[in-house]
Amino acid sequence: MDCIFCKIIKKETPADFVYEGDNMAAFKDIKPSAPTHILVVPAEHIQSIAYLEGNHKNIISEMIFTAKRLAEKLELKGYKLVFTVGRGGGQLVDHLHLHLLGGWKTGEARQLP
Ligand code: AMP
Ligand code: ZN
Repeated sequence: MDCIFCKIIKKETPADFVYEGDNMAAFKDIKPSAPTHILVVPAEHIQSIAYLEGNHKNIISEMIFTAKRLAEKLELKGYKLVFTVGRGGGQLVDHLHLHLLGGWKTGEARQLP
């Protein structure tokens, strides 16, 4: 399977890692949309939120807690957590990932989307 995030997780493609755990990793987005833009990516290849099954509950929970811990470590004053789902939702990489976005000056965080 030709998946860029699987390759990054397996260290076949380089990335700027900020966290590496047994079940997931986090690395800087190559084309940041915010002063701080990190992707939290599970090791398991799941296409998107739309492909979640009951046994994935722990993965989603760990993704969110990983983002929370990173936000604390990076001392973000506030942040946004974003899942894109499918092309209609702006998803370009078909491997589940959570965007951690922050680092704006107070009041500069733009409106959704
Ligand atoms: P999405 O549009 O939600 O699928 O987001 C995919 C994100 O992955 C985009 O923000 C890309 O900039 C980012 N991205 C794609 N390739 C890489 C890569 N090799 N290393 C880091 N980030 C990447
Ligand atoms: Zn993958």
